[in-house]
Amino acid sequence: MRTLLAALLALIVFGGRAHADQFPSHPITIVVPFAAGGPSDAMARILGDRMKTTLGQAILIENVTGAGGSIGVGRVVHATPDGYTVSFGHLGTHVANGAVYKLPYDLVTDLEPVVLLPSNPMIIVSTNAVPAKSLPELIAWLKNRPQPATAGTAGAGSGSHIAGLYFENTAGIKLQYVPYRGTAPALNDLVAGQIEVMVDQTANSITQVRAGAIRAYAVTGDKRVESAPEIPTTDEAGLPAFHMTLWSGLWVPKGTPQDIVTKLNAAAIDAMNDSEVRKKLENLGLQMPPTDQLTPDALGAWQRSEIAKWWPMIKAADLKLE
Ligand code: ASP
Repeated sequence: MRTLLAALLALIVFGGRAHADQFPSHPITIVVPFAAGGPSDAMARILGDRMKTTLGQAILIENVTGAGGSIGVGRVVHATPDGYTVSFGHLGTHVANGAVYKLPYDLVTDLEPVVLLPSNPMIIVSTNAVPAKSLPELIAWLKNRPQPATAGTAGAGSGSHIAGLYFENTAGIKLQYVPYRGTAPALNDLVAGQIEVMVDQTANSITQVRAGAIRAYAVTGDKRVESAPEIPTTDEAGLPAFHMTLWSGLWVPKGTPQDIVTKLNAAAIDAMNDSEVRKKLENLGLQMPPTDQLTPDALGAWQRSEIAKWWPMIKAADLKLE
């Protein structure tokens, strides 16, 4: 009986190890919970493309959209915990959504953190038809309207929605949110003049700002974005209370073997250390995470501290789910 038990145990232990040793033996899917062509999609594709060099397998991006990204995250929570299904997310999906929705999963206990990814200041933008030319003029214009201006978001609880709420609170204005499945389609509508303003990720809007298709008023980081140095910070533009940087990260389902998490973590770090990748990301206004914050534990601790910071604010705002 004892030998049989020992044999069974060895099978389980070594069987499991062999499985992790071979990882990855087929393509990995990163689930991006927002529309293709948006800022999350762009970052996941740039990093995934380089991660395949380290991992030796293709990285596929699947856009599973809706409900502020919470549907895509749920897809990963319920996937097999074998490292082949990875959740890309950010402050919206892996923090704010827990306070905005009654999620059928727990953002902390049902997922395993992998690595913190670059962060992005937000940018306040409008259609060119808006008469304001500076942030104070925009705020005055927003205040003096009979109806709130329409503001595109990637859905309730998304980064652009949280940023919009932050803008409302600090500027004393009111916005009418228009939810999309990501800020890529929202930006298309902004360029076309279907909506009026957006507090977007810089990575998304920057190309249209540079092309003169929309107008930028300020970025919400503590310094100007290198690739668009003419845009002032909110500090410089007269709204110093509005500071926000949208960080991103990768997670896998709870129960994923530790050595698989380690391999995914190392591949993402390799990608972020690659000078070509950095150039592409920095050109989008993205900032690399601090090098001492790149362990899975550091992301877990950061996510928990962000939950402690944001949930009371979001719950106090009593969001209406549009
Ligand atoms: N990151 C989202 C996207 O890629 C947008 C958001 O959270 O506002 O569309």
